[in-house]
Amino acid sequence: MGWTQRAGTREDPYELGPVEVVGHRRPSGGGSSARPMPSRMSAIPRVPGLVDERGEPVDSVHTEEKTEVQQKKEEEPCPGDPVPHPEIAPQTASSVRGGMFGFTRKKKDGAPKWHNGVDFKNPYGAPDYAMYDGVATLHTEVAGAGYYVTAASEIGGRQVEILYFHMQKERRVSGVVKAGDIIGYQGDSGNLKEAIRKGKTVSHVHIKVRVAGETVDPLPYLATEIDPETGGVTQPCE
Ligand SMILES: [Zn+2]
Repeated sequence: MGWTQRAGTREDPYELGPVEVVGHRRPSGGGSSARPMPSRMSAIPRVPGLVDERGEPVDSVHTEEKTEVQQKKEEEPCPGDPVPHPEIAPQTASSVRGGMFGFTRKKKDGAPKWHNGVDFKNPYGAPDYAMYDGVATLHTEVAGAGYYVTAASEIGGRQVEILYFHMQKERRVSGVVKAGDIIGYQGDSGNLKEAIRKGKTVSHVHIKVRVAGETVDPLPYLATEIDPETGGVTQPCE
């Protein structure tokens, strides 16, 4: 109970129809820096009204905050992981299995429901990282799946497409990316905002992987090994 499916008949919001490509933000790579976007998180909100005993504004507070934010920003994932220390985002109705790839969820009538990717916990506003070297493309919003980026890579001699869903509209990257580059920032686009509001899940990036057009389980593409049944980390990357 508690699982009300507003989206009704939409079987798989991530199964994309024809999409309109928005275009490239960085068509020529734009310089030598591999890091595509300066983090908005470096803009430290000022704390109003903080003064010392002489009534002077206190700046040390800001310095401390900055250090904390800086550390967060520098915590990067292993190449191959979309977020640092990947963890499966559970679904309230189907627990950690519901964040996995496959028939891991249940419809209202109890029938198995397909989930075509893996959900990795990632707080709103945190970066999502390119898992492999490749070429990223922005796409317009898709109902359910939200704003997303696709990244085309060659992995083991095969053409692999990795899709990152529920991103922020204005904070996505396109063009050439290296593994570990920020590919965009975590949003709650598509059905995620509503799902979080209803307590169905937590903030996450939905990762979908396609090999030669076929959707496959993303877990084997991660650097961190995750047990597909339990969601436990069996082999953290170093
Ligand atoms: Zn998902």
